[in-house]
Parts: sequence; structure tokens; C-alpha cells
Amino acid sequence: MYSANIDIQRALSGFTLKDTMFTYNSFMARLYNYCKTLGFESGKILPSRAFCSDENQGYPIILIAKHFGTFPFNHGRVGSIVSTDRHGPHAEHGKDLMIIHASHVGYNPQNRMWGNYHRRHTEDCEETSSCGRIQGVLEWYLCQYTLAKANIFLDRHGDEYLVNIDNQILNERKTEGLFVHLKKMIAVQPHGEFRPLRSQSTSKCYRASQEFRALIGDDAWGAHGPQAIGDKLLPELFGFKRHISGDPETHGLLEENLILPMPWIVASEFPLLTAAQANTQVEFDRTYQTLVNSKAYHGKRVVFISGLNIDISPNEDQLFPLTKFSPWAAFVQERNGHRTVLEQDELMKRLLEQSEDNPDEVHLEDAIHQMKNVEEITIRP
Ligand SMILES: [Zn+2]
Repeated sequence: MYSANIDIQRALSGFTLKDTMFTYNSFMARLYNYCKTLGFESGKILPSRAFCSDENQGYPIILIAKHFGTFPFNHGRVGSIVSTDRHGPHAEHGKDLMIIHASHVGYNPQNRMWGNYHRRHTEDCEETSSCGRIQGVLEWYLCQYTLAKANIFLDRHGDEYLVNIDNQILNERKTEGLFVHLKKMIAVQPHGEFRPLRSQSTSKCYRASQEFRALIGDDAWGAHGPQAIGDKLLPELFGFKRHISGDPETHGLLEENLILPMPWIVASEFPLLTAAQANTQVEFDRTYQTLVNSKAYHGKRVVFISGLNIDISPNEDQLFPLTKFSPWAAFVQERNGHRTVLEQDELMKRLLEQSEDNPDEVHLEDAIHQMKNVEEITIRP
């Protein structure tokens, strides 16, 4: 458990947002130009996107169409899950193939808060969660975490540092809920057991371990009687059990992706941001495995890139959101089968090397206007 925790922590902190954000137009031009450096042939590239179904993901899709000269294939399901069972048709529809996957999160530049998006088409112009699907998954876990923070107490008697834990949290027979890692928090008794010092009517009292005291600091124990642990219930100290039922849309994949990093998600300042980053990381890894094993892409050029779509609400006079993209990783396959994975820093270098000008970009308005003037085809039933 300890090393698994360190791995999760490292993975989450490895996804940096500082100096990695592109405006979508700049990113898409650079991505197109990068594909060209790999030998991708103009007019023979079929892009695909794996985005959430949210309407604010539309602007990035328009820019994919503009820069790659065709509407992208759809590899995405609600919650930014990649439909890996759609590799076959995507591979069949193009010579050179690009897939972009992104989890998404709202950002408000006025108050610098992550997680909300301004829904200007609602009756009262409400601000709601973005991604709403991820928020739906997080709610149960956030509630469990809030309850645990209020029902574990730190109590000090002279040199004795005690922890009072509610029986509901300790109940090992429950099949779902938040579980504390007692081995970390509680001092082992001389006979090697985690026996409480006292069993009270609704809780048990233990002596705190040295490890726990070192982790949260002795100052967390106030001098004036028991106090709720609150935010000192750090992610290293607990985990969750949950029956994840496969729903028809995502088969529970989103929740499965998030359950291991969930303690870090619920304890973070912006749970929706941390969750979106974690989902991007897990989905990239899962999709990469399927691409490597896919016969459909055999002998073809492939670029698969994952990152975070940051949805910045449009102002009153703007039609589209000011979406930004922060890349996480990419997978590149050449026609001869040579494969490379680019980690975030390497991927940033490759993108920054590219020009923001795309000589092949399509003028969508002109293309649509031309279509209006084309002689109508009569369909005979
Ligand atoms: Zn969403």
C-alpha cells in the first residue's frame, strides 16, 4: 500500500500545468505541423477525437476540422473515456491517423477557481460543474471524506497523543465506504495488535503512531480537548471501497480510473482538476496498451496524444470558449512499426519546435459557402 501510494502521488504531481498550456488554435497548428514532420501526408490524415459529450468541447473539434481539413472521427464517450473498440473503423477510414484524447475541466480567470463553467444558454446563465460527469462520480466520495474529517478526533492528554475514530469508519464488515489505514495511524500494542485503549459507545480510542504524528505534526493536537481531524486527514491515511456498477454509457470505466487516486482527488484544493488530470493519465495508459495490440493500425502512421482541455467560459461578446490545452503524453507509431512514447517534457519540446502557422488550414466559412452553391443532388427514393 505504501509504495502504491507513492506511485500515485508521483504520477499526479508529474502532470504539470505550469508553462505547458497552449491556446487551442496554436496547439492544433503545432500538432498538425508535428504530424507532417513524421511523414503524415496532407489530405490523407484522418483525425479522431476522444472528448466528453459536453457542448463546450465543440470549439476544439471545430479547430481540429480547420487544421486537419476534415471533421474528426469520434472516439469519445461521456466523461472523456476513449472508445477503444472504435480503433478498427478509424484505422480503416484514413491513411495516416491522429487521435487526440482530453479530459476537461472548467476554469474561471476572475477568481482563479477550477471546476466551473458558465452555461450562458441556461435560463439564468448558471455556472455548473465542468466536467459534470466527473462531478457526478466524485459526489459520493467527497461526502464520505467530509464525514470522516468530522468523525475522527485528535485528543491529547499530557504526553499522550490519542486518536478517536467513529465505529462507522472502523466497521470492517461494511462493503462500501472510506477506510482509514490503521497501520499508519495507530501505535501497535506490545502483542502486535491494533487494540484500542478504550472502546466507547460509538467510537474507539487509540494511541497515535509515531509515523502518524510525524506526518501531520504534533501541533495538530490542540491543547483544549478533542478536536476533529479536518484537513489533517491526508490522502496517505485512507482509501475507498465501492461497488462500481457498469453503466451503459461508460461501463464504470471513469470511476474505476479514479478510485485509486481518489484520496488525493477529494483532498485536493480543486477535486475536479485533479480528477481530470488523473483520468487523462489512466486513459492514456489504457488506450496506449490497446493501440500497441491493435491489428487495425498495423503498418500505419499513428499519433495518439492525451492532455487536458481547460474550458474558460466565453465573455458576453464571444461565441466560443477560450479553451486551452495542456499535453500529458503522446504515442507515435511509424509505418515500419517503430514506436515511441513521449513524456510531457519531451512532448512539449516537440510541440514548441513547430510553427503556429499551418499553410494547409481550411477556411471553414468559405468551404461551407462553396457547398451552398453546389448544384443540388436529387435523391430518387
Ligand atoms: Zn464532461
